[in-house]
Amino acid sequence: MSTREQLDAASTRLALEIPYRHVDTHFIDGGWVASTGSKRNEVTDPATAEVWGSVPDGTTQDLERAVGAARLAFDSGPWPRFSAAERATVLMRVAQQIELRSTELSLTNTLENGSPVSETAKAAANAAGIFRYFASLAPLLDAEDIRPFPHGVGESLVRRDPVGVCGLIAPWNFPINLMVTKLAPALLAGCTVVMKPASPTPLSFRIIMDAMAAAGVPAGVANLVTGSGALGDTLVRHRQVDKVAFTGSTPVGRKIAAACGELLRPVTLELGGKSSALVLPDADMGSMGHALIRSCMRNTGQTCYISTRILAPAERYDEVVELVTSTIAAAPQGDPLDPDTVFGPSANANQYRTVLDYIDSAHAQGARATTGGHRAQLGGDLAAGYFIAPTVFADVEPHMRVSREEIFGPVITILRYKGLEEGLKLANNTEFGLGGLVFGSDPQAAQAAAEAMDTGSVGINFSASNHAAPFGGRHDSGLGSEYGPEGLAAYLSFKTIHRH
Ligand code: NAP
Ligand code: MG
Repeated sequence: MSTREQLDAASTRLALEIPYRHVDTHFIDGGWVASTGSKRNEVTDPATAEVWGSVPDGTTQDLERAVGAARLAFDSGPWPRFSAAERATVLMRVAQQIELRSTELSLTNTLENGSPVSETAKAAANAAGIFRYFASLAPLLDAEDIRPFPHGVGESLVRRDPVGVCGLIAPWNFPINLMVTKLAPALLAGCTVVMKPASPTPLSFRIIMDAMAAAGVPAGVANLVTGSGALGDTLVRHRQVDKVAFTGSTPVGRKIAAACGELLRPVTLELGGKSSALVLPDADMGSMGHALIRSCMRNTGQTCYISTRILAPAERYDEVVELVTSTIAAAPQGDPLDPDTVFGPSANANQYRTVLDYIDSAHAQGARATTGGHRAQLGGDLAAGYFIAPTVFADVEPHMRVSREEIFGPVITILRYKGLEEGLKLANNTEFGLGGLVFGSDPQAAQAAAEAMDTGSVGINFSASNHAAPFGGRHDSGLGSEYGPEGLAAYLSFKTIHRH
C-alpha cells in the first residue's frame, strides 16, 4: 500500500501497519538478538505526545557483542575481501530492498519525529539513491593505481584499504538518511559498522537492517544497537573501533573530537549550523518565494544546512519581510500524517522547549514577530503535541541570540544590511560554516557572492545536497566531508607499495 492508502485505511495511528513498536532486541551478527539488560527507552509521537513504542537501552555487554561481531567480520569475514564490484552488487540489492519498504519507513519515521509524510515519503528513495551512488564508485576502488616515481626508476602501487570497524552515530532529524550517508560509503569501502541511532528515533532504522539482511549483507558487517548518549560515548572510545562518523550537535561533536584526538582515531563530524540567505538587491521575489520553505524551513526548520537567517538589503527590507511572512503564514501546519502538511510539530519535548526559549529570547531582545512567535494550539488528537507556530522575526540585530545560535525549529530571522560588503560580513559573522544561499538575478554577481561565503556549501536561488558532491561544514560546523568520492575517502586507509 502507498502511504496515502495506508493513511486512508487506518482509522487511528495505532492501526497503521508498521513492523516495529515495542521491541527488545538489537541487530547483531546477522539477526535480532535480545538485549542483556532490562532498561528501556520510550518512543513518543511528537504530534500527540503519546508513547507508542520502546526499545532496549543497550548495555555495555550488548555493545561488546556488536563491536565483537563487526571486528570478526572485518578481520576474517568475506566482506572486506570481496572486490568493490562484488560489494556494489550487494549495495544495489540493498537499494531495491529499501524501496520495497518505503511506506513503513515513511510512517515509522513520521511517528518517531513528526517529520511530515511529504518529507518522509521520499526517505526510502533518497536512501536507495545514496546506496546506488556509492555502488557506482566501485571502479574507483578496483582500478589499479600505479604511479611512477617522478625522478628515477620504479613505481608505487596505491591501495585503498577499508579503514576497519566504524562506529556510526546519527541524530533524530533525518534518522534514516543521516545514517545511510555514513553506512553506504563504509560498506562500499569494505568496512564493517556498529550504528547507534538517536534516542528519540530508534525504530525506523530497524527497517533498513531488514532490507540489508534481505539483500544478503553478510552477518556481522552491519550491526545496530539502541541506547543513550552514554552508549554512543562507549562506542566512540571502544578499543576495537577504528573510525568514528557522527552527525549531531556541536557540543557533542567537540567531545567526540576530543576522544578521537586522544586515541588518534579518524573521525568525520557533521555538526550544527546557522546559515544565511543573502538576498541581493536584484533578487526576484517570485523565485525566492518559491524556494523559501524548502531552502530555509525544510522539515519544520530541523535541517542542519538550511538558511534560517535571511539578510535583506535595506532598500528592499520591507518587501522581503512581507514576502517571507506571507509565505510562511500560508504554509499549512498540522498532523504530519496529512500529506498536505508542511509544518509538523517539533521532533521531541526537549527541542520544543529549546525553540520556545529562543522565541522568548527574541521577544525579550526586541525582535518583531511578523507571524507566529508563540506555541500553536491544535485540536483533537494533536492538542498535546509539540507544535510551535511557524515564526518570522524581523528587526533582528546581529547580537541577538536568535541571530547567532542554531534554533532548529520553525523560526526565520531577518536582518538588514547596507551594501554588499556589509551583507557578506554579516553572512560570515557566525561561529558556523555549513550552508548558505544567495538570492539574486544576475548570475555573475550571485556566483561572486556565493564564492565569498565561508561555508561548506552554498546554493544560488535554491538549496539542496547532491550525493555526488562533498557536503561538510567549516569552523564549528564540522570536520571532513560526506558524499562524493571525498565521502568515500573517509572510510579508506591508503597504503603505498613501492617496487621496481
Ligand atoms: P546530539 O544531541 O548531538 O545527538 C546526536 C547523536 O549523538 C545521538 O545519537 C545521541 O544519542 C548521540 N550522543 C549524545 N551524546 C553523545 C556522546 N557523548 N558521545 C557519543 N554520542 C552521543 O544531536 P541531536 O540532538 O540528536 O540532533 C540535533 C543537532 O544535530 C543539531 O545541532 C543539528 O544541527 C545537528 N545536525 C547536523 C547535521 C549535519 O549534517 N551537519 C545534520 C543533522 C543534524 P542520544 O539521542 O541518545 O542522546
Ligand atoms: Mg540531543
